Amino acid sequence: FAASGGALVAYADARTDPATEPSQAAPKKKVVVLGTGWAGTTFVRNVDSSLYDVQVISPRNYFAFTPLLPSVTCGTVEPRSIVEPIRKIIRKKGGEIKFWEAECFKIDPDNKKVHCRTNTGTNLERNGEFLVDYDYLVIAVGARVNTFNTPGVVQHCHFLKEVEDAQKIRKSVIDSFERAILPDLDEEERKRTLHFVIVGGGPTGVEFAAELHDFISEDLAKLYPTVCNLVKISVIEHGGHILTMFDKRISKFAEEKFRRDGIELRTGYRVVKVSDNTITMEDKLHVESSVSYGMAVWSAGVGARPIILDFMKQIAQGNRRALATDEWLRVRECDGVYAIGDCATMSQRKVMEDILEIFKFADKDNSGTLTVKEINDALEDICIRYPQVELYLKSNQMSDIVDLIKASKGDVRKESVELDIEEFKNALADVDSEVKNLPATAQVAAQQGNYLASCFNRMKHCDKKPEGPLRIRELGRHRFRPFRYKHLGQFAPLGGEQTAAQLPGDWISIGHSSQWLWYSVYASKQVSWRTRALVISDWTRRFIHGRDSSC
Ligand code: FAD
Ligand code: MG
Ligand code: MG
Ligand code: MG
Ligand code: MG
Repeated sequence: FAASGGALVAYADARTDPATEPSQAAPKKKVVVLGTGWAGTTFVRNVDSSLYDVQVISPRNYFAFTPLLPSVTCGTVEPRSIVEPIRKIIRKKGGEIKFWEAECFKIDPDNKKVHCRTNTGTNLERNGEFLVDYDYLVIAVGARVNTFNTPGVVQHCHFLKEVEDAQKIRKSVIDSFERAILPDLDEEERKRTLHFVIVGGGPTGVEFAAELHDFISEDLAKLYPTVCNLVKISVIEHGGHILTMFDKRISKFAEEKFRRDGIELRTGYRVVKVSDNTITMEDKLHVESSVSYGMAVWSAGVGARPIILDFMKQIAQGNRRALATDEWLRVRECDGVYAIGDCATMSQRKVMEDILEIFKFADKDNSGTLTVKEINDALEDICIRYPQVELYLKSNQMSDIVDLIKASKGDVRKESVELDIEEFKNALADVDSEVKNLPATAQVAAQQGNYLASCFNRMKHCDKKPEGPLRIRELGRHRFRPFRYKHLGQFAPLGGEQTAAQLPGDWISIGHSSQWLWYSVYASKQVSWRTRALVISDWTRRFIHGRDSSC
């Protein structure tokens, strides 16, 4: 993808041309990658490690397949089955890549260094701190859980972000049942212990609620028959509905299914305080109410990590939720630094900001007006640089820009259209409404990692940057197309072997058939044959023997 286009092909050829090959002695440029999640790992797997001196730094020496984390919370899938050691991934690439298990705690863009600290508890000099130089820095540290500074959340709630979180949740669910069944407890206490609260009705919270419901009704109910009728699962969501990022039909189906399953939905409530046994919330009119609970999982949003907040302050990007990059995933105003995945947001150029330049670019004969032919000749380049134009035409069912002009100018004959700048502006006035922030998903992170690696692989010499031009005038000569996200669809497992799937083109499917689609997609997306085999055998084991309830 993004690899076509004559300019690009010519560019790639130049690399293998001996005349332009850098001399043997020239040292390779240093690429430092921070993070081994979806974005970082995909970059590492795809970058040509013979062209660069690649070093990977992350406090986790493995990649985790996060979409299956909710399944780990209830033992449907074992934690070992969804992680792959980063050293194995590197070894497959010929072993030229280095990995340091450490956390980067400061980025110094002026001196092109990152400050790191090992977390392996060594008694190295300087508290295990060390410095790494880079020529290119790829920041892929992901996001952290956002508690919105709600008091008591860190102390009393579980999160569901890392593999350890999922393991802790699994233990805590089973412990709740063991505690609730003890003798000498009154009914109220048993009920409180078995009240499971999920804060946040997004995909993670909903999937966990569904998993938990299945685990309890399919496995635990048989093992703890005396207390299973006291169990309650509640989902608290600030918005009016759950799964709002999905199509309305899916969110409605999910809400109805949850009601049938006896999962309580409290939409329109915001949690304001958590203590060791009660959760206090507020409705839209700021009326407070509280419930007692046994175990709570907080999955209400993500925020920037401290290292990113600190870096944004240094480069005058404070007051943002994530690092801003351009469409080539370069951090704005920061030489040699790239950011991908959840830690970054890509800001797209607006057509209206560049409308004069676009007009001049298209007006090849400098007549001050644009003919249909001139517009059509420039359209491909415009759509590459401003993907919103193509999206806009598509979502309004227009076949080309002439339809757009007609819509703004009234019915006109194709050949006779001639637009001045004001008319051109009017025609394109609404296209920027198609500019949307990309979601914080594995799909986006992986595509960005893949794209950036392909840019690095195609750089002519290591001292050239993999970006294209920022200005429309140079469009015809661009070397690298801007990053473009391709949405492949989204799943929402709802429990009871039913899944909602929203595929491109608004194709929606809900039920058992999409559950099988889910199984096959998630099996095929595994990073290695080993994890694929493990995940499939976990699913099979669950079908035959149920989930394990020992902890
Ligand atoms: P991450 O994958 O979070 O990786 C960040 C990496 O950086 C980690 O290796 C971390 O250890 C490392 N790191 C952190 N701090 C530092 C530091 N200071 N220095 C160096 N390294 C550091 N997305 C989907 O598309 N589909 C799904 O079904 C889906 N399900 C999900 C379910 C759950 C429970 C969760 C939590 C997320 C899910 N997501 C899903 C979202 C997806 O996991 C994220 O969008 C994705 O992981 C983002 O990738 P990333 O590389 O930016 O960050
Ligand atoms: Mg990453
Ligand atoms: Mg990850
Ligand atoms: Mg992002
Ligand atoms: Mg003209």
